[in-house]
Amino acid sequence: MLNVVLFGAPGSGKGTQSERLIDRYGFHHISTGDVLRSHIARGTELGRVADSYISKGQLIPDDLMANILADVLDNEVDKGAKGVIFDGFPRTVAQAEALEGILQERGRKVDMVIGLETDDEELTARLLKRGIDSGRSDDNLETIRKRLEVYHNQTSPLRDYYTGQGKYRKVEGKGHPDEIFTAIASHIDSI
Ligand code: ATP
Ligand code: MG
Repeated sequence: MLNVVLFGAPGSGKGTQSERLIDRYGFHHISTGDVLRSHIARGTELGRVADSYISKGQLIPDDLMANILADVLDNEVDKGAKGVIFDGFPRTVAQAEALEGILQERGRKVDMVIGLETDDEELTARLLKRGIDSGRSDDNLETIRKRLEVYHNQTSPLRDYYTGQGKYRKVEGKGHPDEIFTAIASHIDSI
């Protein structure tokens, strides 16, 4: 089972490219943002906690996130799945270390990290556009700025972390989604 991390800033296109990866490779897709938003929509206790962070553009605490991830892996991923795409996790070095442990306990490892790289100006424009009809509490200018700041401070160090492990593959995140997908697929096919 392949374990591929799709990495990138908010609005970098992780969700869009994940859909294509599901279609082409039949991978199971875990989007931690979607998991949290589903809890918010169902009004669960976790949803209440998650919303208090998300609407401010902050990250959910690492321990809580690692528990959620392990739970989804054990209960929602088909044991015979060909692969898993991790979208939105890990977002901190502590989460990357937690993921390593979680996968190791299950006899698996992160095989590749694909990083969609795009500048802040483009990201902001995309997120503002999405905010017009996403209904998301975090797609407004103030929260977008905060999310990008959090990304640069807490998440982007993961590039070096995974580059050091020889697992990081950079993909140009600007351009037509089909072209971007072609670049991603060529990396996956090389595994
Ligand atoms: P994209 O548009 O590329 O899909 P995004 O940042 O807009 O990325 P999500 O990945 O859906 O959206 O995440 C939305 C919010 O959920 C984050 O800003 C954060 O508050 C919370 N969140 C999601 N994943 C994590 C995580 N691994 N750790 C902490 N918080 C998380
Ligand atoms: Mg997303």
